[in-house]
Amino acid sequence: MKVFRWGSRALDMFPEDTALHKTYSYEGKVIVIGAGASGLAAAKILQTNNIDYLVLEASNRYGGRLKENKTLADFPIDLGAEWIHHLPAVLNRLKGKSGDLVEEETVPYNAFYKFDKDFGYSSYGKIFTWINSSLLRLLFFFRFKFFPEFKFKNSSWFNFLDRNFAEEVKHKIEFNSPVTKINYSEDKVDVITRSGKVYKADKVLVTVSIGILKSDYISFIPDISKEKKDAIESIVFMPGFKLVMKFSEKFYPDIIMCKAKTGEKEYYDMAFKKETETHILGLLVQGSSVEDFYCLESEEHIVLKALEELDQIYEGKASKAFTGEYALEDWGRHEFTLGTWIESFQYNQSLIQTLNEPLNGKVFFAGEVNDLNHQLGVPGAIVSGYHSIDKLLTNL
Ligand SMILES: Cc1cc2nc3c(=O)[nH]c(=O)nc-3n(C[C@H](O)[C@H](O)[C@H](O)COP(=O)(O)OP(=O)(O)OC[C@H]3O[C@@H](n4cnc5c(N)ncnc54)[C@H](O)[C@@H]3O)c2cc1C
Repeated sequence: MKVFRWGSRALDMFPEDTALHKTYSYEGKVIVIGAGASGLAAAKILQTNNIDYLVLEASNRYGGRLKENKTLADFPIDLGAEWIHHLPAVLNRLKGKSGDLVEEETVPYNAFYKFDKDFGYSSYGKIFTWINSSLLRLLFFFRFKFFPEFKFKNSSWFNFLDRNFAEEVKHKIEFNSPVTKINYSEDKVDVITRSGKVYKADKVLVTVSIGILKSDYISFIPDISKEKKDAIESIVFMPGFKLVMKFSEKFYPDIIMCKAKTGEKEYYDMAFKKETETHILGLLVQGSSVEDFYCLESEEHIVLKALEELDQIYEGKASKAFTGEYALEDWGRHEFTLGTWIESFQYNQSLIQTLNEPLNGKVFFAGEVNDLNHQLGVPGAIVSGYHSIDKLLTNL
């Protein structure tokens, strides 16, 4: 059961000395590709060590798969990563601090799951209804005890990244600069963007999602090895989206789990344990269930389908209580993401090592998929940023 050594159960595997605890005196120029959690963590190290660097970001914003909506509710809503699949102490570790007392206010995510027959559990409907009220409560109690998860109370993952990383380095980001080519055949590395602009660097750190690497959006000269290509190909990076809807009343439970052939699908109360009177319901869809939505012609149709599904079990209450306000973030079809997240625990360390392997000691890789310390998701991406920038600066 590899999953039990990841996330909250792998805090003891968080590296004791990250790049945050070291000093570097590198004289060359470094380019970081991508301003997500991993790229910004690496940039912070370059900034604090006065190293000449630049971050090239494809989109017009930083954060990558961390994004915040501040208009729908009186609390910030994470449109990307939202849960701390960890003990809150990881927030200290990510900042280079020890101790378990964190300054961020967090809440335990010990939500009660509901399985509903109208969401594909028809043959088991009655069983689930029974289990719902008794055994499941117990099961989820133990699940939380064994594999605890938390959420930010009145903050967000995006805000955490913004305050602790982006603040210091955002002046070094060149936005709207999608990299399409990396030529590392000469002494200096040429990094070429879609507009044809050429940037020269001594070393480069690539932090784009595995979806972008799979898509061949970036060509490498010389080409990357077959072994690395195969490793990239073998990683499953499912499509998915998050729909956030505002309602005038709370007619739904904490979570409604829906059946999904691959990935997951759930409706869940995004205001869970927040200090708010606003009713925000999220729909997170990843994997096979996206097909039911991707075949629809517009965002509005996706919202209507979600309302229809909810109306079926809540007897029309969803449509009645819907305020018409929503936000939809389609990570699966986002040009610079092309997927959601990876289930790291499915992969062995040697595969992740292969993904990490630098090219000619000049082009390095970091990001969620390169996490060698079992930290998962955002913490994994940040730790990987620290790890790879350390390798880059020390030439290992
Ligand atoms: C819906 C959703 C829910 C999630 N929930 C959680 C959760 O609850 N908890 C958790 O810990 N994790 C969660 N995750 C995963 C988490 O968001 C990621 O693991 C983490 O944000 C990855 O960071 P990264 O820096 O590796 O990659 P990214 O965030 O993808 O950053 C890569 C950056 O590179 C840029 N880029 C791409 N291509 C190019 C190019 N060619 N040139 C220049 N720049 C480029 C992108 O625009 C982006 O800014 C979730 C993800 C999604 C999508």
